[in-house]
Amino acid sequence: MTALAGLEQFLISKGCKLTRSRRIILQGLLDNEGWSNAREIYAYVQARVHKINFSTIYRNLDALTSIGLLCRVERADAVNYYTLNQASGHHHHLICKSCHKICQLDFCPLPQMDPETLQNFTEVECRFDLYGFCHECQENKKYTDGNGSD
Ligand SMILES: [Zn+2]
Ligand SMILES: [Zn+2]
Ligand SMILES: [Zn+2]
Repeated sequence: MTALAGLEQFLISKGCKLTRSRRIILQGLLDNEGWSNAREIYAYVQARVHKINFSTIYRNLDALTSIGLLCRVERADAVNYYTLNQASGHHHHLICKSCHKICQLDFCPLPQMDPETLQNFTEVECRFDLYGFCHECQENKKYTDGNGSD
């Protein structure tokens, strides 16, 4: 089974419709390997499917993220980036404010919270990411936050 076929099977198993644009989005993320923002994915899909609008891409990325097929993080430039989820379970991310590297964080505080802490909210979605300076940037003494004269 190809990597794409495996992703498609997962998508269908989650009750999602496999549309042409979704296939191409997945292929684009496979081709790229790293993290891409919606504009980059849009450009990739647009080159292959004529007449697709940006909001369709954005909605598809949201849908694929909500079923756990993609990871989404907001980088320090306030833009969402997506990649294929390589992890087996729920997780978070550590993001370097200087080089924008994104690392997987295998920790989640949610299971340690009791209903009182959560003020009896149900179906709580756990969304957070941590921002800091990675080891390499510390060694290279790069402590810029990416918004300065870069
Ligand atoms: Zn992830
Ligand atoms: Zn860094
Ligand atoms: Zn969590």
